[in-house]
Amino acid sequence: MKLTTHNVQPNPTDVLKAAGTYLSVGDCQKIAKAFEFAAAAHANQYRKTGEPYIVHPMATARILTDYHMDAPTILAALLHDVPEDTAVTAKQIDRQFGREVAELVDGVTKLSKVRLKRGWLDVFRGYLGERTKTDFTTFDRHVETLRKMFFAMSRDIRVIIIKLADRLHNMETLGALPIDKQRRIAQETLEIYAPLADRLGIGQLKGHLQDLAFPYAFPDEFAAIRHQLSDEFPKRHRYIERVRRTLLKRLARAGIRAEAHARAKHLYSLWRKLVKYDNDLAKIYDLVAVRIIVPTIEDCYRALGLIHSLWKPLPGRIKDYIATPKPNGYQSLHTTVFALQGKITEIQIRTPEMHSWAECGVAAHWTYKELGAKAPAKPTETPTWMKELANLRETFADPTEWRKGLELDFFQDRIFVFTPHGDVLDLPTGATPVDFAFTVHSDLGRHCIGAKVNGKLVPLSHLLENGDIVEILTSRKVTPRGDWLRFVKTNKARSQIKRSVETEGKVRS
Ligand code: MN
Repeated sequence: MKLTTHNVQPNPTDVLKAAGTYLSVGDCQKIAKAFEFAAAAHANQYRKTGEPYIVHPMATARILTDYHMDAPTILAALLHDVPEDTAVTAKQIDRQFGREVAELVDGVTKLSKVRLKRGWLDVFRGYLGERTKTDFTTFDRHVETLRKMFFAMSRDIRVIIIKLADRLHNMETLGALPIDKQRRIAQETLEIYAPLADRLGIGQLKGHLQDLAFPYAFPDEFAAIRHQLSDEFPKRHRYIERVRRTLLKRLARAGIRAEAHARAKHLYSLWRKLVKYDNDLAKIYDLVAVRIIVPTIEDCYRALGLIHSLWKPLPGRIKDYIATPKPNGYQSLHTTVFALQGKITEIQIRTPEMHSWAECGVAAHWTYKELGAKAPAKPTETPTWMKELANLRETFADPTEWRKGLELDFFQDRIFVFTPHGDVLDLPTGATPVDFAFTVHSDLGRHCIGAKVNGKLVPLSHLLENGDIVEILTSRKVTPRGDWLRFVKTNKARSQIKRSVETEGKVRS
């Protein structure tokens, strides 16, 4: 972040330059206009850092251009603190910049009410074991509720992305605030914002937020780990560099085009892992890891085979997140091998699309849309749960129903099941073959008469499990039954069954 001093008048050059690489001239003109508008509204306001206030919304917008977010998002980022802190109203924003931008700004304003209670700090400090089990559960429930509120209050996923960028810049300038505020905000960042970034698959943002918050939330622990790593880190880096070069040579010889990078673990996640492993650095194999990027999924598996023929894998440490992605859509192959000098080393293999998802998550989706390019089918296609989230408001006209649906679908753990063709479907835990059928296609749902799971006939209320292969049996003559509502889990199935039962009823009476 470039800091702007008092005597230099802030200007939107950086934002415009970045936006100009992917947005139209017309959009950039609107951005310039939004800058003028926000700068005028915030005139004579200063941040605790001493900078003119407009520097903050500008930095927020700048972060979002890195993710190639669309024009309304950038405009809303520039305007996001206007209704809260100035005399300008939401109506004026609506008139000047349109309904979409006004609604995004309104969403961000509302979210600023979601805050971690002060008293929780002490409980949180007990993370290292001093806190009781009840504290732990109560605290976890509390932060989970806050995370839910975030989703429940944002009608649009872009609102959360703006809020994350807003928080990132606030974290970068946190040093200017009084110490008790620093702690509260840092803790909030660790417990609410970073997990949200994680759920949206934006790995980059998650890591940045955590590393920025770590020294404020846990100053002593941060100092200790920095000290502990001061020798080890450069050593591992040098070693990984040799592993990387060896791998690149081997892959090239096998005709696999590859890029390879050394990837250092973020400090905060490393610390959390160390706490789990009794502070034994020797047990952390991925302190520095190698990441290999190859053109296709087939190349991923070929590279994995090649690595295993070169170096013996550690049993039980091969993870295939390509066949079974993480709930946030993350895909990669992970393996841990006895590499050079028999040293245990983690290697990750992925395609460029998977890499873009791992770094930008749901934000990657806007990149594809903006470029007008067709988003690659799989694996970077928006995960089902993201689409569900976007569709929920249309499915339910009644806001309470919507909120209930959101909690049901969105916040429970997800399971992954397969179609007979091997496509992966992402469903909520507790989903049944009926949910599966409606997720594939509403016609399949409407006419399902039975199901086979892993080749065996099961009742329609059968609970699906991770990795199940599900086949739906259909008959044109059947229609959904009201009692399916007792066991279905997804909103799509629920609303379609309801609709269909209602129409049936009308026909009969
Ligand atoms: Mn802000």
